[in-house]
Amino acid sequence: MYEVSVDETFSAGHALRGYKGKCENVHGHNYKVRVTLAGKELDSVGLLYDFVHLKQVIQVVIGSLDHRFLNDFAPFDSINPSAENIARYIYDETSKQMKQTENGAGISSITVWETDVTAATYRP
Ligand SMILES: [Zn+2]
Repeated sequence: MYEVSVDETFSAGHALRGYKGKCENVHGHNYKVRVTLAGKELDSVGLLYDFVHLKQVIQVVIGSLDHRFLNDFAPFDSINPSAENIARYIYDETSKQMKQTENGAGISSITVWETDVTAATYRP
């Protein structure tokens, strides 16, 4: 199995509804996101996936979150903008825009760091 990953960062504000503690108050994070792709075969060039294309897709998805108050932004106006839900959202939006490849490489995980020491991962 091969894996490749791309990291990207964004800054955004959020508040967790129904949470008793500091995170119910409006605050911000400098988020880090890691998108990891996996597959058993490389393509004819020797790549699992084209990094350039992957970065372009991720930058569009993450650009839509950057410098936003996430609670105002669908789907986080109805579900909490937790790191877990943000990871799932980035998976859904990124996988929609990725091109199919002959070797069948796909996203194996999305990890979202809220701080240097706390992260949530979504695996489809
Ligand atoms: Zn937070």
